[in-house]
Amino acid sequence: MATTTLPETEIEQPAQQAPKYVYFFGGGKADGNGKMKDVLGGKGAGLAEMTNAGLPVPPGFTIQTEACREFMRHGGLSQEVDHQMEDALKHLEELQGQKLGKGENPLLVSVRSGAKFSMPGMMDTILNLGLNEASVEALAKRSNNPRFAYDSYRRLIQMFGNVVLEIPKSAFDEVFDSKKKQKKAKLDTDLDAKALQEVITEYKKVVKKHVKRDFPQDAKEQLVMARDAVFRSWNNERAKHYRRINNIDDMLGTAVNVQAMVFGNLGETSGTGVGFTRNPATGMKEFYGEFLMNAQGEDVVAGIRTPIHISELQKIMPDVYRQLHEITTRLEKHYRDMQDFEFTIQEGKLYMLQTRNGKRTGRAAVRVAIQMVEEGLITKDEAIFRVEPNQLYDFLVPRLNEKEIKAENILTDKGLPASPGAAVGQIVFTAEDAVEKAGHGQKKNPVILVRAETTPEDIQGMEVAAGILTSRGGMTSHAAVVTRGMGKCCVAGAGEIVVDEKKREMRVKGKVFKEGDWISLDGTTGRVIEGKLSTIPPNADDPELQKFMQWAEPHRTMRVRANADIPRDAIQARAFGAEGIGLCRTEHMFFGAEKIPHMRAMILADNEKDRRAALKKLLPMQRADFVGVFEAMNGLPVTIRTLDPPLHEFLPRREELTVDLALLPTSDAKHKKELVTKYKDYGVKSTGDLKKVLTTLLARVEQLHEFNPMLGLRGCRLGITYPEITEMQVRAIFEAACDCTKKGIKVLPEVMIPLIATLKEMQNQAAIVRRVAEEVFKEKGTKIDYLVGTMIELPRAALVADEVAKEAEFFSFGTNDLTQTTFGFSRDDVNKILTTYLQDGILKQDPFAVLDQEGVGQLVKLATERGRKTRSNLKVGICGEHGGEPSSVEFCYRTGLNYVSCSPFRVLTARLAAAQAGASDKLKIEGGRTK
Ligand code: PEP
Ligand code: MG
Repeated sequence: MATTTLPETEIEQPAQQAPKYVYFFGGGKADGNGKMKDVLGGKGAGLAEMTNAGLPVPPGFTIQTEACREFMRHGGLSQEVDHQMEDALKHLEELQGQKLGKGENPLLVSVRSGAKFSMPGMMDTILNLGLNEASVEALAKRSNNPRFAYDSYRRLIQMFGNVVLEIPKSAFDEVFDSKKKQKKAKLDTDLDAKALQEVITEYKKVVKKHVKRDFPQDAKEQLVMARDAVFRSWNNERAKHYRRINNIDDMLGTAVNVQAMVFGNLGETSGTGVGFTRNPATGMKEFYGEFLMNAQGEDVVAGIRTPIHISELQKIMPDVYRQLHEITTRLEKHYRDMQDFEFTIQEGKLYMLQTRNGKRTGRAAVRVAIQMVEEGLITKDEAIFRVEPNQLYDFLVPRLNEKEIKAENILTDKGLPASPGAAVGQIVFTAEDAVEKAGHGQKKNPVILVRAETTPEDIQGMEVAAGILTSRGGMTSHAAVVTRGMGKCCVAGAGEIVVDEKKREMRVKGKVFKEGDWISLDGTTGRVIEGKLSTIPPNADDPELQKFMQWAEPHRTMRVRANADIPRDAIQARAFGAEGIGLCRTEHMFFGAEKIPHMRAMILADNEKDRRAALKKLLPMQRADFVGVFEAMNGLPVTIRTLDPPLHEFLPRREELTVDLALLPTSDAKHKKELVTKYKDYGVKSTGDLKKVLTTLLARVEQLHEFNPMLGLRGCRLGITYPEITEMQVRAIFEAACDCTKKGIKVLPEVMIPLIATLKEMQNQAAIVRRVAEEVFKEKGTKIDYLVGTMIELPRAALVADEVAKEAEFFSFGTNDLTQTTFGFSRDDVNKILTTYLQDGILKQDPFAVLDQEGVGQLVKLATERGRKTRSNLKVGICGEHGGEPSSVEFCYRTGLNYVSCSPFRVLTARLAAAQAGASDKLKIEGGRTK
């Protein structure tokens, strides 16, 4: 087997000249090379590299990404681009001995997008360009296959009509489907040459009707129009959406690749396929792929026909199989990464159309990285970067509870395990329904999007669905590729299932399933099971994961903690490698059934005496909670925050209460009974209490009512207004700490004051903490080391951080509130404007998910610097949602934070992101991709 690496040519940039817009490849030589992804896009760079290596690549040229950016800036391209493209076309015509769309042997080309980062199916492609009334006849004659020629022409009109002339796909589909009906054709391939000619005549009428012009006959005009349309498609809605969720810069632009067509649909010795050098779902080292004989590329990727496993090619065309295997093995060695390739066989001759680093699941990414180190292909340091931190989520995806699976409930076990994990949800049949039924925020319903096949238009529905099931398409179908990227469970190509999108039903094994019915998917084995199964949480002890993390961890200098409020979450977080708790939100402890009545009594009390009485009841419960958390985190620091949320969150809604009170005089006995149950926690024992209690309750709710509670009586303002609350909490913390210490548990408490804006606020609360701590130590006869610190959640606190640090021994950035208060966006209502803001490019990302480094990040940096000026050993962390988001973690590392704290399920991701940040700093290699 050949093991040579491919040569890489240097690019020559002519000085002081117009930029080189067009890069040629063909005849064993390319202007560009594989390193030029920024300029040529991933596809263009791969084609150049393969050409230089002497691989069988159809020749062509790449119009570079700068042209796309120019197109975005000016809405069109300069003449220089046209000139360079004409020169390249001439070169291509000479090399091929053909003329574009002319003569007895017309040159036909494909026009495809290709950005730096792969965006599967998001942008547009035109095939068979150059066909017209004359050249289609020439092609028919030359190929001796009129059916093939007319089919190619009708595909061109259809694609060109849709992509370039923006005519709805359905207009062409209607023509095609009615022709099939008229000819009683079951499959597309049942239409003969004559029927296809009739389709062409109809298609041309569709074009004329929609755009009031004829389908362009001039091949060069076709080329210019197609090129511009592909550049335009960089900014279509699905591409923009895809970039947003994958964090790809809108300004990168796409390249356009124009390449001589080769045909996989010239008969039984032709075919087309896609493949991977390793299994993208499991990472196993096996030659993995799918192909179709007598088909064009889009048939495989779009999942319209279910393709055949690549091993079959060995039987059909052993020489081609061997050559393909040899080439792709070389490509993997050369790129030192798993390759995802496309090929076409034209009348027995193999052509390589594309190669790129393959997308893979998290489990596959870890396995491939380990195997490649063992094979000596990459170093351990390089391996660290072969897994995206978010991909580690795959190790944490649940599995179906096997015990609940009955043989008769298995609807199919022959689906393809396209993306691992388990998903249980209610069936929906369209992306729109998925978005509608899945709901948002707290009210999330799990839905399973069931489609015959997915298309790029389904992207939003796929994003909100718990899982995806398709009845057609293979492991490289759109559904499979996109869900793997999202880390979402998917069963694809479940051929036994009939999906009737019109009737909104799914039929399998004689059973009919409607919208809203529950099903369970196993994306790891490809099974679909009837009903609502339970799932088993994963464990993070996977030996391969452990091995991989052992390579990454030595590079990590920043600590990773977890946000956890109850022992169960703390234990989970510790198992995932959390090195402490960065945020224990004590208010979550008050929602338990036994605590909430006392909490409510405390809030409703209108004098200190009653409040203290209620707090006294809460004290032992709160103490027990802290004991549980301290025990779980034995030996590790635990940051406990004093009460933070506005009190009305614990009380009934004002409007509801007003209605209940107003209707009371006319309520019947049954309704009154219901009200007794509803208000029992507020002291209602019988119907006779209702009027008095509800009236008092309403008065207190009115008193507590605020127009803007998020900016109202919350955070440290609560503890300052009602110091007895802080006193009780601090007492509970230190009594628990002393009790645990006596039991031999090592306790490192850090008491954190929320939402301060001034030094005085901090001093007020810190004084209570220190006083009560001393009281408890005296009572218990023990002393414990502890810290008192604050959250930085308000811009003012960040600005006066030097002052605040006089009192605070640590800072923890509450970037949820800091984002809210810096932008002035309400974190609970931002979704109303976010969609428009993201769509219009006013914001690049949701700042509540990805830290706004430009604005909020400045405050983080400034507060850290100012705080440490006052207190050089100030411990600084972050505990907002951003603490588990890789780019934000990297920012925290660069800013010199001591730790990030995130939800338990993001701890692994944060650990890897922090390790990568440390490693890329130390090893001076580009860590993540350039955003
Ligand atoms: C924050 O504001 O970032 C934070 C962690 O606190 P909470 O989300 O509880 O307001
Ligand atoms: Mg907060």
